[in-house]
Amino acid sequence: MATNHSFWETQQFFKGYDVLVVGAGIVGLSAALTLKAQQPNLKVAVLEAGHLPSGASTKNAGFACFGSISELLEFEKRSSAARVLELVKLRWEGLGLLRKNIGDANLEFQQCGGFEIFRSTEIRMSKLCRDKISYFNDLLASVLGADNVYCDATAKVDEFGLSDVCCMIENRLEGQIDSGKMMAALMTRVSGLGVHVFTNTTVQCIESVNSSQRVVTQHGCYETKAVIVATNAFATQLLPHLDVVPGRGQVLVTKPLPNLKLRGTFHYQDGFYYFRNVGQRVLLGGGRNLDFKAEETLQPGLSLKIQESLEALLRDVILPGTKFEIEQRWSGVMAFGEDVEPIISMIRPGLFCAVRCNGMGVAMGSGSGSQVARLALQSV
Ligand SMILES: Cc1cc2nc3c(=O)[nH]c(=O)nc-3n(C[C@H](O)[C@H](O)[C@H](O)COP(=O)(O)OP(=O)(O)OC[C@H]3O[C@@H](n4cnc5c(N)ncnc54)[C@H](O)[C@@H]3O)c2cc1C
Repeated sequence: MATNHSFWETQQFFKGYDVLVVGAGIVGLSAALTLKAQQPNLKVAVLEAGHLPSGASTKNAGFACFGSISELLEFEKRSSAARVLELVKLRWEGLGLLRKNIGDANLEFQQCGGFEIFRSTEIRMSKLCRDKISYFNDLLASVLGADNVYCDATAKVDEFGLSDVCCMIENRLEGQIDSGKMMAALMTRVSGLGVHVFTNTTVQCIESVNSSQRVVTQHGCYETKAVIVATNAFATQLLPHLDVVPGRGQVLVTKPLPNLKLRGTFHYQDGFYYFRNVGQRVLLGGGRNLDFKAEETLQPGLSLKIQESLEALLRDVILPGTKFEIEQRWSGVMAFGEDVEPIISMIRPGLFCAVRCNGMGVAMGSGSGSQVARLALQSV
């Protein structure tokens, strides 16, 4: 369909870019931030399909986490102690970069600790993890710059009002953020650096034309020297060969509970369930493991089976004996693959990607964006 763009619009808004970033999540916006911080004169824009950034970055639970003992144990079984160390380093440094880029106050970062809980049906697993506390404390001390990061915190179970929990392991460096504030601050930062974020703009394909890239959208074609694809779970729509599998996460939040005792971020069942306080509310998500196949989707939506399991967890473990009402429910999509590390690479000259934060984008997103921006800078 012919567009009615003026000469001015074409010259100013569609042409002459050094780098176009596709996707305004934490990765895409962090990439734009790094590009402008490194080379302020570059012409950079971000193309975002949603009215707001509509991926995982605005839908997540806001855990600033870098590894629970059960997850690290499982990963070490499949790889090695050296790879555990590398992975935790990547996440820990990523969190540091996020906090440096945005500032703790703007993120509402609170280091209230993270807790992995085990119910009375999981005594064997809880023992396995508890026995590994000193091992992981020693292994990770150099990367985290702190000793005794993990400890047995079972004695605090009653303090948080939890029920049916036989063991709880604390990670004292874990924190929580306000994901909405994080994204608003990132958008303000990039706009302040002269990066235009075009929302409601879906990239349909990216073509190489001579030595530049043509980015086709429903509003017309953009011309640029380089493109960074940061579309996470949606990545295979533009780059079908990538090992990226979507995994939908369903979340709910309660209305405020005046006597809420819960403080901090909590992981349950290998991280398949996660809950935290948001002020006096409880936010709870997960249950993807109840129906992996159905949740391997890019479609937003809720399923009765998973919502019922979330409510049962609230009733039986998190808020026993407390009346609660659900204020809001939503879903978002994560990106998974064979490896737990993100894919950050050059696809072909002028085309780059940074996708697949494996459900840990708060920790990995800033570093992934920064790394892909540095890669792209070599070609402009
Ligand atoms: C329910 C849930 C809970 C989570 N909880 C946590 C947590 O507590 N801690 C944590 O560390 N991580 C968590 N995550 C994971 C984390 O949110 C993600 O890893 C991270 O946000 C990924 O960022 P991103 O920028 O790569 O992708 P996204 O935020 O998904 O951004 C991709 C963007 O690309 C846009 N897009 C897609 N296709 C196109 C196209 N063709 N053209 C233009 N734009 C396009 C999308 O609209 C989207 O805005 C959670 C995720 C979910 C879903």
